[in-house]
Amino acid sequence: MSYDEIEVPDSGQKIEVVDEENDEISVPEDPIIPIIHGDGIGKDVAPAAQKVLGKAAEATGRNVSWMRVYAGQSARDRYGEDVNLPDETVEAIKEHRVAIKGPLTTPVGAGYRSLNVALRQTLDLFANVRPTYYLDGVPSPMKAPEEMDMVTFRENTEDVYAGIEWEQGTEEVEQVKEFVEEEMGFDDVMHDGPIGIGIKPITEKGSKRLVRRAIDYALEHDRDKVTLVHKGNIMKFTEGQFGSWGMEVADEEYPDDEVFAAPDSLWEEEDEVDIPEDAVMVEERLADAMLQWMQLRTDEFDVLAMPNLNGDYLSDAAGAQIGGLGIAPGGNFGKARMLAEPVHGSAPKRAGQNMANPTAMILSGRLMFDYLGWGDAADLVRDAVEETISSGKVTYDLERQIEGGEKLGTTEYAEAIIENIEKLS
Ligand code: NAD
Repeated sequence: MSYDEIEVPDSGQKIEVVDEENDEISVPEDPIIPIIHGDGIGKDVAPAAQKVLGKAAEATGRNVSWMRVYAGQSARDRYGEDVNLPDETVEAIKEHRVAIKGPLTTPVGAGYRSLNVALRQTLDLFANVRPTYYLDGVPSPMKAPEEMDMVTFRENTEDVYAGIEWEQGTEEVEQVKEFVEEEMGFDDVMHDGPIGIGIKPITEKGSKRLVRRAIDYALEHDRDKVTLVHKGNIMKFTEGQFGSWGMEVADEEYPDDEVFAAPDSLWEEEDEVDIPEDAVMVEERLADAMLQWMQLRTDEFDVLAMPNLNGDYLSDAAGAQIGGLGIAPGGNFGKARMLAEPVHGSAPKRAGQNMANPTAMILSGRLMFDYLGWGDAADLVRDAVEETISSGKVTYDLERQIEGGEKLGTTEYAEAIIENIEKLS
């Protein structure tokens, strides 16, 4: 395919789909990988991550041919003021199957939809996956941060993030209000006067495919437990239904000795459940309680699967427990498709100052390497990052919390990681 603004690298090959339904791809040793640098600190962290990841690929006998694609400010600069997400960016990611992005700015109340949400929806990247584990040497507010080793699966395409909402003062919002009050019989529920209304769709398809991914992950990675986190006691027909559909997947789609659906564990604190040995236990927990358990009984949790909004809050809170946003990686997965991205945003105040911490973006690349089947490169990235941090070489965000730490700029920190890749490989 030819593009207007995107330069296709002159070397490298395409990742091909083998079996879309079963999420199978065929990865050459020299894949072309699209990269969105992103807004704000994206301009600092993305080039740094690109260098580190390129080096880890090279050290394990491979080569990444990066293909710059544009979204956010970089797209407006190239394609025109009202083009935030060019079609060709979406097409390039669709064509090449696996990509990585830096953060994109979404001003609150902007006249356009979040680009992140748009990308996830357009590419049907239905699972946002965030491994949260402790890296040796990282300052954390917790007494035992090393107890955290969780992977969160956040539903990525629906819930109140689906973008079905109406602004106060519009004819549409009044129409929806009237319909809900008069046709649906919910009068006296909404106050009079200006109102904003949003809709929270939770579907069987969206819930089940997410929970299935989480259970498959637990089985493949020898995890013990999948916890479905929802607020089903209050939002029975949306969040509660998510839980029921999730338990249905656990109960009906896997043999009992592999996956065990725990009965009623939601309502009892100390549930004694007889679980078949070696089976992955699937249980439900309420989201508010879960935030508490995550801090008080960190080591009891393993894999979490959640609707979109819970997932957003919980994964950030989990990230804080192991040292904050600068190091928390993420990946969005669809069928035979992945988009890696750090959890953090564009932190505009720190942009362009060679200060921001590129660890989250680098570790998102590690997740991408894992997806490509490059486990050795993924391990090398993690080991080199850990080695760098534990030697006290860190960016400003961590340095101010570590006694005797050495503060490095984004680029210099990435160079220190590269040196460690060379040493370790
Ligand atoms: P943010 O993550 O950009 O920043 C919050 C604070 O965290 C920053 O002030 C900074 O102190 C710290 N921080 C974050 N990343 C860091 C890093 N790599 N190194 C050092 N410190 C770091 O969150 P925000 O301020 O709420 O959002 C800013 C913009 O980013 C908004 O427009 C928001 O919509 C967008 N955003 C984008 C994504 C994404 O692209 N996936 C995610 C979250 C927020």
